[in-house]
Amino acid sequence: MNCQNKNIAIMGGTFNPIHIGHLAIAQEALEFKKLDRIIFMPAGTPPHKDREIVSSHKRFEMVKISTSNNDNFEISDFEINKKSRSYSFETVKYLKSLYGIEEIYFIMGEDSLMSIESWYKYKEFLSETKILVARRSYKNIELLREKIVELNLKGYNIEEIPTSFLDISSTNIRERFRNGQNPRYYLEYNTFRYIEKEGLYV
Ligand code: ATP
Ligand code: MG
Repeated sequence: MNCQNKNIAIMGGTFNPIHIGHLAIAQEALEFKKLDRIIFMPAGTPPHKDREIVSSHKRFEMVKISTSNNDNFEISDFEINKKSRSYSFETVKYLKSLYGIEEIYFIMGEDSLMSIESWYKYKEFLSETKILVARRSYKNIELLREKIVELNLKGYNIEEIPTSFLDISSTNIRERFRNGQNPRYYLEYNTFRYIEKEGLYV
């Protein structure tokens, strides 16, 4: 990787499954901050979730399929290969040292920022990275903006990605599969086909 190619953001998530909401905010962040690349980082054993419904291998596969036709999107297996729980604080430090960079962005949705205090070493995490946050709901935009101001006053670096929002979640997509509804338009098409082929979420 050359020096001009070091404007990087991490897009972390469980991606169970990855959907167009994730892909849209990654692309919007890329354009908004003129980033060189987005590294999708599927979580291993997610600290916030009790059980894995789908193996990390299959979640990784879905992210790979969904991102494969975008030259600016990459995927890392760093977290899913960890034996211990994966924490974003450690991931950020790892990628900064891997690429020899001082700064890195981390993309997240509104709900993640609103509960950031529950993250492992969240103060250290926020000190190590610049956050790009996307709204997720038509409600509570004032609460999100107050939160951004509050955290920035504490010296952290949080910025809202100017975007309209897609009210889509993996939870809702899993429910639709289970209820026999067809969520194909919420997913990248080849990812949808992979889910069908593997018989996931039924
Ligand atoms: P689940 O319902 O299982 O929690 P999810 O849709 O929230 O799934 P995650 O993998 O938990 O997906 O999310 C990864 C990151 O992407 C989080 O920071 C989350 O806030 C953000 N995100 C997910 N969906 C959207 C969306 N539609 N708009 C904006 N941000 C989103
Ligand atoms: Mg979530």
